[in-house]
Amino acid sequence: MKRCPKYTFGVGDRFANGAHAQLAAFIEAKKLGIDITPVWNKSNREHNIIGSEPSQTRAAADKAVADLGWTGEYLLDADHINLSTVDRFVAPCDFFTLDVADDIGEAAEPADVAAFIAKHPELIGTITIEGIAEPFEITQSDVEKTANQFLKATQKAAAIYQHVVAAKGGVDEFVTEVSMDETESPQTPPELLIILAAIADQGIPIQTIAPKFTGRFNKGVDYVGDPLQFEKEFNEDLAVIAHAVKTYGLPDTLKLSVHSGSDKFSIYPYIKKAIQRTGAGLHIKTAGTNWLEEIVGLAEAGGEGLALAKTIYVKALEKKEALSEPYATVIDIHYSNLPTAAEVDGWTSTQFTDALRHIPSNPGYNADLRQLLHVGFKIAAQLGDTYIQALRDNSEIVAKNVTVNLLERHMKPLFL
Ligand SMILES: [Zn+2]
Repeated sequence: MKRCPKYTFGVGDRFANGAHAQLAAFIEAKKLGIDITPVWNKSNREHNIIGSEPSQTRAAADKAVADLGWTGEYLLDADHINLSTVDRFVAPCDFFTLDVADDIGEAAEPADVAAFIAKHPELIGTITIEGIAEPFEITQSDVEKTANQFLKATQKAAAIYQHVVAAKGGVDEFVTEVSMDETESPQTPPELLIILAAIADQGIPIQTIAPKFTGRFNKGVDYVGDPLQFEKEFNEDLAVIAHAVKTYGLPDTLKLSVHSGSDKFSIYPYIKKAIQRTGAGLHIKTAGTNWLEEIVGLAEAGGEGLALAKTIYVKALEKKEALSEPYATVIDIHYSNLPTAAEVDGWTSTQFTDALRHIPSNPGYNADLRQLLHVGFKIAAQLGDTYIQALRDNSEIVAKNVTVNLLERHMKPLFL
């Protein structure tokens, strides 16, 4: 197992053109005394939409690291993969996010469920966990219900993990994450405990787990829900993880992973407080927030850059249903709040950047436009060289926006 550094931060580089600007944020953070390891992540879904290969993400990351003289660790995440999609990620990646959200609820063999219950009497009854005031009261039927819900998913995660190890020539020199976030119902802390027991039984050296937390983690916009409820759940999850590490011999590097973790400004103070209080590690997974900064940069540049940003918005508006469909569980776009093509056509640079840049206190900010553009990267991909050339023509202003967004709006509030 490759040990996962304590603080890792996932960055997505949709068009393999932003790694330098992203890495610049980690370099600035390090100067401030915050040691964060970059993890370049790009899911199979994003590669398919753009028509790119994981090896290109690796090349862009390696080049940025070499060019900027980054001497710290960095990782490449095969994000949200499963058995049928993992193969092209094996060689370039050293971090694997085993996505079993779709397998939740699929029934395991009754004999496996019975064996799990028999093996884990410690999960039944009153369970006192250090750091959680109220002990969990878990009945045998709770364990059975949770096993029926999640055991099959952990078995599938094990199959992906074993497949990656075999494909890597029997060498387990990578970080393993299990993700269950892209699903409708959140997993409660007692469920997380049962899931971690099952993952340990499966022999998966899990170092990060991405549960679905309470509330909405929509792409590119702030958390929707009760931040205090989130804080309670997050702290209980941290306590459950520490307990599971001790009880089930899971790696001591095991930590929470917050997916769609960009832009969740209203919960960052609680995450920061929790990791500082407990000394726990953290993985924050962000991706599309970086591509949105590319558009902000183009719009801010004015002229042809602004015109291209408007073109992308207008085309995304025409295809809003199709673009939204693959992201149904992680976006909430109110179509009625989307400005019309004619309105946006008349916008100045400032009007466009006010609407898109994630500064919720700005009266021009429009979370619906932001989410639509978040899923609108397919439009930019279809523009091919035109889009890439625009990024190159405006590289300085685009890079500034990418770096400032990561450093000022994400890293500092979370870690400083
Ligand atoms: Zn996810």
